[in-house]
Amino acid sequence: METRRVRIDLNRRLENEARNPHKPLCDNDLPTTTRGSRRQPSNRVRMASSILATALWATGCGVTTDANNNGDNGGSGNEAKPFTFQISVARHVDQPLSDQRVNRVFTTANELLLSDDEECPDVSCPVTFERDGLVDTFDVSPAIVTTEAQLDAVFDVAADIKVVSLMVGVCGSPSADDVSLVLGCAFTGGSAVLVQDAPPDVWAHEWGHVQGLPHRNDCDRNLMHAFELETNAVNTTERDAFLSPTPGQNFLAFKTVFEENASPAVETPSEDESAIASKPTDDIFAQRYLAGLPSTLFNRHNLRIRSGELLNRLQQEPSPRVRANLTRALGLARELAACESFIGSCESIAGDLNIDELDELVEQIIALGRLADLDESSQTTDLLFAASDPAFWANRDLNLVLEDGRRLNLNESLARICVMGMGLTKNPTVPERLRELKRKAQASQLADPWFIPQIDEALERIAGTGKYAKGAKSVRVP
Ligand SMILES: [Zn+2]
Repeated sequence: METRRVRIDLNRRLENEARNPHKPLCDNDLPTTTRGSRRQPSNRVRMASSILATALWATGCGVTTDANNNGDNGGSGNEAKPFTFQISVARHVDQPLSDQRVNRVFTTANELLLSDDEECPDVSCPVTFERDGLVDTFDVSPAIVTTEAQLDAVFDVAADIKVVSLMVGVCGSPSADDVSLVLGCAFTGGSAVLVQDAPPDVWAHEWGHVQGLPHRNDCDRNLMHAFELETNAVNTTERDAFLSPTPGQNFLAFKTVFEENASPAVETPSEDESAIASKPTDDIFAQRYLAGLPSTLFNRHNLRIRSGELLNRLQQEPSPRVRANLTRALGLARELAACESFIGSCESIAGDLNIDELDELVEQIIALGRLADLDESSQTTDLLFAASDPAFWANRDLNLVLEDGRRLNLNESLARICVMGMGLTKNPTVPERLRELKRKAQASQLADPWFIPQIDEALERIAGTGKYAKGAKSVRVP
């Protein structure tokens, strides 16, 4: 079986194309794809210039012309030819992930793409994801990714999919509102990074972004939905993008035409008001989301939920998953009364945590960051500063219990997440305190090499500079 990796860099390809333009090929010009013999993309994707792409568009090489078509075959006339991706997978050295587990994820992803959904318009997509070689390992970042710089390093690892333990506040989230735990992150034309317990539909969703697909929120079970899980529906455009080499040929045509109309290459999650409004209020706290309970979803429902009610619910709620969502909602609702409970939790939590319990703790820290400027006693800001020192968490034996029973110590990660929390506050004293923290860290030659870069990113976020600048384009999307 051929195991050649055929992932290639979109920008490099476009540069090459600019130097050496060719007539675009149509799907129908190409040999039928067979299992295990992915076609060479260099022979396929030949449309760097908008003129060529427009020509392709006009001649209809299997390109569905409506990006938001509702999923029927719609007379596009293009047949779905099976296509196989051989996908190399690497895991963080501290994060277990067996070859067998990857096989199971791919098998499920293949099945859900092949299936026809009944709730949303859907077409069968005969794509096959196959593991390419053994799962490799990397150690270029911490297992818990907390800065964009760490995520850059993971994206640079030579594998199609990289698996880490957790991602917090990364993947192009410029504002305090959308900072969250993300299950996956993709770079169009490149690769994807996933967290260890991301479900198979998230693997497929992120691969959809690698193929160039944007979000589509017109039905809750759309695979490319910006925040829903348990998805599987694709329309013909998305299907076609999954059935061609990376990035999807059809996407490139879209991209070029979109760019002519000055639209972003990858859409930011859009608010589909009608879809959001139809969701029962109670349900929004019971679910897991691609990137945390979306602020758009909460803001919509907050019109009907009083934040005092949220706090009561939090105190009675037994499930850490639901509590994590309620915690996030309390931060978004700017409910100052919640601080006491979150501070108490940070000061007392101890022992082994499962992933839901860790998610809840992380959401508490993020919420404290969002609320700190409201707290005139500065108790909240003081707590975040104190907890920015790994010593604050030490002696409590705080570990994330991993799949194979291994324990991942959390002291340094939690300290860094508290620095991130500082970066979310609008408290005017924070930048100077962060700079002081940095000076101290430099003087003490702190053991965690990721600590000072974390402070730098927090300062950048507050200042709204660099990747956090207003209007800064992110090439990555959850
Ligand atoms: Zn996405």
